[in-house]
Amino acid sequence: MAKNAPDASSNTVAVQATNDDASASKLSCVKKGYMKDDYIHFFVRKPVRRSPIINRGYFARFAALRKLLSQFLHSDDHTKKQVLSLGAGFDTTYFQLQGEGKAPYLYVELDFKEVTSKKAALIDVHNELREKIGATASISRENGVVLGDHYKLLPVDLRDIPELNNMITLANLDPSLPTFVIAECVLIYLDPESSRSIVGWAARTFSTAVFFLYEQIHPDDAFGEQMVRNLEFRGCGLLGIHATPTLEAKERLFLDQGWQRAVAWNMLRVYSEFIDSQERRRIERLELFDEFEEWHMMQEHYCVALAINDALGLFQNFGFYKDEQKANMDGS
Ligand code: SAH
Repeated sequence: MAKNAPDASSNTVAVQATNDDASASKLSCVKKGYMKDDYIHFFVRKPVRRSPIINRGYFARFAALRKLLSQFLHSDDHTKKQVLSLGAGFDTTYFQLQGEGKAPYLYVELDFKEVTSKKAALIDVHNELREKIGATASISRENGVVLGDHYKLLPVDLRDIPELNNMITLANLDPSLPTFVIAECVLIYLDPESSRSIVGWAARTFSTAVFFLYEQIHPDDAFGEQMVRNLEFRGCGLLGIHATPTLEAKERLFLDQGWQRAVAWNMLRVYSEFIDSQERRRIERLELFDEFEEWHMMQEHYCVALAINDALGLFQNFGFYKDEQKANMDGS
């Protein structure tokens, strides 16, 4: 089975380490004022300062996810909503939403047990985190499990589809409720067969759902080749990138696996056309920035793909839209 197949270019320890990298980068952004996150510092042992280009990239990733998630949570104020984060790592979105009084009815995070155990332990020791999951929540550091009324953290290897089904049951996820599935820098590390299975499983499981994918594209030009080599060198090869090397291929991945609609944009477009212009202007003043060519190339090598299943008819207006359209929708 693919699950246990050794692969020289990708090993689980190195892939798990990308989570520490992401957390450190997010903290670097927070310290520079790109975004607010009162919780990420609990998850970073050694704070580092990232370069302006890395900070700006993480900001774009954060802003895109937040804006889409918020659209989803507001798509119909009367229906309970669920979020399912695949390979959540030390992501703090749940804690931030909870702190802002915007958390959905149920927020479920899955990752390898090595990662969920560490996250469970950190939630256990830090009151600011613990209080966000409710006084009656149970935490098992050994098993890497947190079970609160509205937040669940569970260990699983995402490549094991029968186990994913067990997690749905354990987490009390209701397949009929609108569900926002997050796969941020996760599926690209898996073999293409596993990624397809997960995407197909999610399509079959949730009839009213948004799938948010953020990951690399374009391995075949000079920048892309270097990007692929760098990650291979670190032991976390992008096993999936050649199966979905373009925006069209990412869209096809979802459509072929049964999603009703799919659209993929590269991050350069997401940044310039989707992220609020006011926010862009604000963060562009934070640091001296002159690496424009590099920035453009880098953002062309990351994308957001969105796929939609809409049995309940909630998502006619969901997705990327420009600032002006948003203004119209707001009636402002
Ligand atoms: N989504 C988070 C973390 C990204 S790092 C963020 O964007 O910040 C990638 C995460 O995926 C790691 O925590 C890693 O442990 C997890 N992951 C990778 N392959 C996995 C698998 N097969 N099963 C479960 N988790 C996996």
